[in-house]
Amino acid sequence: MIPHDTIDTIIQTARIEEVVGDYVNLRRRGVNQIGLCPFHNEKTPSFTVSPAKGIYKCFGCGKAGNSVNFIMEHEHFSYPEALRYLARKYNIEIEEEEQTPEQLQELNEKESLYNLSLFAQQYFTKILTESEEGKAIGLTYFKERGMRDDLVNRFQLGFSPVKWDAFSEHAIQQGYKKEFLVKTGLSIEKENRLYDRFHGRVMFPIHSASGRVIGFGGRILGNDKSFAKYVNSPESEIYNKSKTLYGIYFAKNAIISKDSCLLVEGYTDVISMHQAGIENVVASSGTSLTHDQVRMIQRYTSNISILYDGDPAGIKASFRGIDMIVEQGMNVKIVLFPDGEDPDSFARKHHPTEVESFLAANTVNFILFKTRLLLAETQNDPIRKAALIKEIVNTIALIPDGISRSLYVKECSSLMTISEQVLMNELNKILRAKLKKSSPEAEREAEVVPPEQIPSEPQIDTDLDSAEYQEREIIRLLLLFGSEVIHIRLNPADEEEVPVGIADYVVNDITNDEMIFENPLYKSIFEEYTQGVEKDAIPDRALFLAHSNPEIASLAVNLVFNPYELSENWLKNNIMVTTEETRLQMHVMLALHAFKARKLDRMMTETRKKLMDVTSPEEQGALMKSFHELKKQSILINKDGLGRIITR
Ligand code: ATP
Ligand code: MN
Repeated sequence: MIPHDTIDTIIQTARIEEVVGDYVNLRRRGVNQIGLCPFHNEKTPSFTVSPAKGIYKCFGCGKAGNSVNFIMEHEHFSYPEALRYLARKYNIEIEEEEQTPEQLQELNEKESLYNLSLFAQQYFTKILTESEEGKAIGLTYFKERGMRDDLVNRFQLGFSPVKWDAFSEHAIQQGYKKEFLVKTGLSIEKENRLYDRFHGRVMFPIHSASGRVIGFGGRILGNDKSFAKYVNSPESEIYNKSKTLYGIYFAKNAIISKDSCLLVEGYTDVISMHQAGIENVVASSGTSLTHDQVRMIQRYTSNISILYDGDPAGIKASFRGIDMIVEQGMNVKIVLFPDGEDPDSFARKHHPTEVESFLAANTVNFILFKTRLLLAETQNDPIRKAALIKEIVNTIALIPDGISRSLYVKECSSLMTISEQVLMNELNKILRAKLKKSSPEAEREAEVVPPEQIPSEPQIDTDLDSAEYQEREIIRLLLLFGSEVIHIRLNPADEEEVPVGIADYVVNDITNDEMIFENPLYKSIFEEYTQGVEKDAIPDRALFLAHSNPEIASLAVNLVFNPYELSENWLKNNIMVTTEETRLQMHVMLALHAFKARKLDRMMTETRKKLMDVTSPEEQGALMKSFHELKKQSILINKDGLGRIITR
């Protein structure tokens, strides 16, 4: 039992943003922080954390709670398990009685498996660093491999004694149940006796993302071919191979700060890379990445570089698997190591700065890599080239983001010396076919938000020139990006760009020009938003998502959840726009421009109509005057530099 005041201390100490931050890459947005929801699949962040209130809420799937709830939900822990986890994280001592063998039995099964795994790790580490046998065999082996002490400690490496049942015997003696020894795979039961699965091996504990030991890999010493080089824990209730990445716990922070994740083959590669100072690295342990593993990485970054040793043939075999990663919206890059080298051996032979510069120089985008590799094989054979085009376009079609797709079409067309148009046509064929295929069933299968959470989609006008569309884009910009800052020239003639908040800029621009929304719902959202901005408080979009007017709430939810398509093919000073801020900046400009241009067009048409109806010269004169005024404005905004910044 955990005493009540300890529970209070834990809840008060465990800051929600820190607890969530271990799993989700959070960004500040106003007083809140937001990130991609770890509980459902999403590409636009709707998972909100309020440090002030100590709670999280996902506006996509509706999950909400405090830090204890988060850990329970995320780690599938019971209430006491979650409390223990948080207590460990914050070094809060839980004054429970020393666990007797009876109490050990009472712990629920999962917690017992965790407990035993931790016990085993501590045992193996102690053997490695303190026993004569461990030091002479295990530690010597690690030293021979050039492994530094600090890495041996960080990764909690160990050694399992050569004696067949040394560990099993010790564990039983300490009150650990046979049942769990077998379930974790640490022991193998044969004819009613327990044997150590890992005896005589150096041990690599496998940690969950939150740092708990969930399994082991054990390497045999030397190169005796009659034994498997590596033996691994079998799957158990706490160790699911397809959901685990070796090294993720030690890599998390570096992945977030570098906004990129390196993928290598195994334990030694991960550790050697750390030794070279490169810490954003994980291993999938021999197999190609699973969907779940990609999602795990995606919580921290959308950039992944796969480090390959070996020959092109082996890499070709993995193309399908990589396509799946592309489809999940990741930017995939490839690094090919020199013949006979893997990340481990390379990192051991070279100075850390050499490793860094090797990676920098040899990281190639996957699609371009694939194109080049396959291109080398076509040898100008037109039939093979046609097949290649199909193959490449198929991969490009998997990219969820439109801008990236068109960038690849550009790059690949020049690599393959094929016109962009040909690739575009092929691409559009595939995209159209996909759209047709995404029947209601397919949509239901795709893991989205529980239906009760999202009000049914209102009929949305997709005509790009309609007032509805233009107004909606303005509202969406405000809701999604209102609190972000862009750099713009206040005057087309200005040299310098100044930072402005998107909310301020858009609201001022529209109200200064006295542009009025036609759609009553958009109009009332805009007005409410403007009131907030005028009071210097950018309205949180949560306000609209949970608005008392259900029509507004439903509209806001749908706006925020529709994938935000930034227009394609943007050029600024003839340079492809790539950074997120520039894209955002262009988008704001374009949306305002389109909104105003359309509005003016409309007002001019109305004035023209009125002109036909009036007969008095005074009235005609007045209307003519306002028509010219509108015309002037329209010419002005069309000249507003946009023609030069944006080409569509
Ligand atoms: P060597 O010293 O012979 O190079 P190694 O320990 O570096 O041996 P490799 O055969 O080079 O091992 O394999 C590279 C990586 O692949 C290792 O770090 C290991 O983590 C991983 N690996 C290899 N075989 C297995 C396996 N059966 N299960 C899990 N991981 C494996
Ligand atoms: Mn190796």
